[in-house]
Parts: sequence; C-alpha cells; structure tokens
Amino acid sequence: MNVRENLKALNIEKRAYIDGKFVDAVSGKVMQKISSIDGTIIDNIAECDAVDVDRAVDAAKRAYFSGVWADKSPAEKKSVMLKLAALMEENIEELALLDTFETGRSYQNYLHDSIPKAVEVVRYFAEAVDKYYDKMIPPRGKDFGLITRVPLGVVGAITPWNDPLVVDAWKFAPALLMGNSIVMKPAEQASLSLLKLAALTSEAGIPDGVFNVVTGYGEIVGKALALHRDVRGIFFTGSSDTGKKILTYAGQSNMKKVALECGGKGAYIVTANCNNVGEAAKVLADNMFYNQGQICSAPSRVIIDKTKFDEFMNCLRTECERYVPGDPFDTENNVGCVVSVEQYQKIQNYIALAKSEGAEVYQAVGRKKHSEKAACVQPTIISNIAANSRVVTEEIFGPVVVVLTVNSTAEALTLANDSNYGLAGAVWTNDFDEAFHVAKNLEVGLVHVNSYGNDDNSAPFGGVKESGLGKDKSIYSFDEYSDLKTIWIHHSAH
Ligand code: NAD
Repeated sequence: MNVRENLKALNIEKRAYIDGKFVDAVSGKVMQKISSIDGTIIDNIAECDAVDVDRAVDAAKRAYFSGVWADKSPAEKKSVMLKLAALMEENIEELALLDTFETGRSYQNYLHDSIPKAVEVVRYFAEAVDKYYDKMIPPRGKDFGLITRVPLGVVGAITPWNDPLVVDAWKFAPALLMGNSIVMKPAEQASLSLLKLAALTSEAGIPDGVFNVVTGYGEIVGKALALHRDVRGIFFTGSSDTGKKILTYAGQSNMKKVALECGGKGAYIVTANCNNVGEAAKVLADNMFYNQGQICSAPSRVIIDKTKFDEFMNCLRTECERYVPGDPFDTENNVGCVVSVEQYQKIQNYIALAKSEGAEVYQAVGRKKHSEKAACVQPTIISNIAANSRVVTEEIFGPVVVVLTVNSTAEALTLANDSNYGLAGAVWTNDFDEAFHVAKNLEVGLVHVNSYGNDDNSAPFGGVKESGLGKDKSIYSFDEYSDLKTIWIHHSAH
C-alpha cells in the first residue's frame, strides 16, 4: 500500500466549520507551518480570529435555544452518536492519514490505536447516556425535590495535538450527549482530522450549529473562546501554563465552568519488592516511547530502589530499541516524528542540559533518517542526575525518561510527590500492603499497580495540582458538561 499516494488523492478541507457549513476566516487569512516529516510547507488552514469565534458561538447559541438538539431524548442522541462512531470507523484511513500528515506520528499508530480509541470513546458515552438517572430528594411531608441534570448551553473545547481525535472525543461526546452545543478549537498543529469529523457530524444527523470548529492560533481563537460571555463552560487539554491562563479568562469574563487536563511528569516507582523488573521495564517503554513520548500521562520519571537499578536499566535499554523512530508513512513503522521542529529543538535542549550537568545519557541505536529534515528523536534514558535538575522537574514531552535511585519506598514516595504535577503514576511491587500504601499516598489522579496505561473508558482521567482539575472519560465526565438543578416541589395531595 502506498500511503503517500492515498494522501495525495484526498480532498482536504481546511476551512472552519460554522453553523453546518465550511467557511473561510472572515479576514481571509490562512496559517502556514513546516512539516516535521520532511520540512515541506503545510498551508491554507483557515486562520480564524475573535470575529469567527463570535459567529460560531452565535450559531451554537441559536441551535441550543431552538431545542433542535438539546430537546432530543437520550435515546435519539445515542442513536445519532452511534452513527457518528460508525462513520468515523468507515473513514478511519482518511482520519489517520490527516493526523499523520499534520503531526508526524506514525500512520500505523493512528490507524490501529489512536483513531479506534476515539471511536470507542464516542461509543462508550453514547451507550451510557440513556442508562443515566437523575436523583430525587424523598418526600418529607408535602415536599419533595428533584435533582436534575441540565446542559450548560454553549460550551467551548480547546484541545492539543498529541492525540487529537481521542482528546476531542473525550470532550465533544459527553458535551453533546448532555445536550450542549459546542465550539471546538483544535491545536494549530492538528486541525484537519477534526474538520473531517465535522463533515461526519452533519452526515450522522447532528443539526447545524450544534457542532462547530474554529481553527487558528491559541492566543487568538482559544483566548476569544475562553473569554466569550455566551460560552458557559470551557474544557481544555494542554500545557499547565495555558491552563492557568484559561482560569484567568474565565474569571475575567463570566465565571464560566472550567475543566483543565494539563501536563504531567508521571512517577514510576519500582520498589525493592518488585520481582518482575523485566516486565516493569517493558511496560515503561511501551508507555514512554510510543508517540515519541508526546503523552501527557507518560511515566517519564522512574524512581527505583537502588538494588533493582542495574537489572532495570539493562532491560530498558533493550526495550527502547522497539521504539526507534522512522518514516511515519511507512506501514512497517510504529513510531514517527515529533510534532514540529520547535518541539524537536526543545527536546534536544533538555538532552543537552542533562549532558552538561554530567548525567549519563543513553540513546537507542538509530536508523538512517528517511529525510534529512525529519524531526525524529531516539528513545533516551537519563540517569545519574540530581532530583532538582530541570530535566527531572519539567515536562519534556518527548521520548526522554529520567531514572532516579532511592534507598527506600518512603524516600521514593517523598520524591514522587515533590512535583508540581499530579496526573498519573505507578508502583511496581509484589508486596500488596506496600502497593496499597503507595497508591493511597501518591498525589495523582490515576495510579497503576504493576501495570501502566491499560485502563479503559470507564476510568476517570484527570490530575491534581498543576495537572489540572475535572475529569475526562467515564460517566463522571457527564457531570463536567452539565449543572445540577434542584426543583423543590410542594403539593397538597392527601
Ligand atoms: P498548549 O497549551 O500549547 O496548547 C493546547 C491548546 O491550547 C491548543 O489548542 C492551543 O492553540 C491552545 N492555546 C494556546 N495558548 C492559548 C491561550 N492563550 N488561550 C487559549 N488557548 C490557547 O499545549 P500543547 O503543546 O498543544 O500540548 C501539549 C501539552 O498538553 C502537554 O503539556 C501535555 O501534557 C498536555 N496534554 C494533557 C493531556 C491530559 O489529558 N492531561 C492530554 C494531552 C496533552
């Protein structure tokens, strides 16, 4: 199969999607960026601004108050969303091609992992919505209460580029199923798959104005959406620095509801009681290196008892060879490039910093680059580094793992929690009490015990501290996209 030829044959939509139509930015401007795959130019994606955000929010507001979607029964919404999931599946190759083209991640990985996961997210929420009950405050004399769940109205979603349709689906599926209208702002590095999805929403039967996509830069479009007074909730995934700005925008405007899924520096604790160090190294490599490490929940900070260090490092060096990057369009490859030249440089700067601090830096053996301009980074393991180095404390968002040694599990826990982040973590041990003690005391939203990343859509996902607030995934996510409204009823019946 010649994947590049398939890409050339596509008629790629690059305009914003507002009120059921593809439209240019009012300014007529378009964005231009450099492909991390081969240095060619990707251009002509609509560069919208606040005027276009106003148009999209107006359309979403009209659609919401018309009741054309919000008033549909849960079963009707479910049926439309299941159709959307089926259409995504029918168009899976195109969606995978578009994401590879823009982000440089391997086509194989999008086709067999990322996009199927996005389809499953839509199915999970669609299947859940008509099994959901509201609550009642039981009668007390002649009074009782109904605790009902109501949509927020128009909501905005701002998403990143590292797993575009999965994160998009975490937002739009529960938002739409709760009856909201939505304006989505994809990352400027990954807009095309969401524009294709917009066309599919119409085909699935989502009415005009209910689902909108406004492309453009974060500082312009994202900011305008988060500041908009008619937007009643803003749902963000991205870096912690931008997340803090989103909170400010909500405060500066209408106190809209905010949920933030931000960065991480996942602690991966391996204790002296771990009897399967080889498996711990394999699972680490699988979760650390698969998308060139561009994963918010990546276990990028190994904290290991010093008695297990040598065995673990030997295994990890072998395991990381499975994640050597190559041409993202080559169907033999499971790892492609990083998203951009800027991201590539940022990662290289961290590696250079570690070297300048005297750390030991191991890199997987590379292969010949498919293009001189390809921005690929070899899986990298950094050890013998101070716990307060920026390489250890900051999120690198590349295939770079740091390994710290400790003398006890208590020390491991203290070190793990000495972080601004708290998204996900793990403990590997064959001592059950120790596993539960660490799991209970690790300051994160999700802890894996003797595993990593194998949770499914039923697991709430979201961090503490500067990793954010609120939850994606699971039925708890419906709470984010709705408000509780109490109806207190007095009656005179005997
Ligand atoms: P980013 O914060 O730069 O951008 C994320 C989104 O925010 C993009 O759509 C961008 O255009 C927009 N944006 C940027 N500045 C904005 C502003 N001032 N106002 C409004 N919107 C703005 O992050 P990124 O580099 O695209 O993504 C990588 C980051 O995302 C990493 O930190 C990663 O950990 C995080 N992430 C978190 C999760 C999670 O679920 N916790 C998932 C994926 C990625």
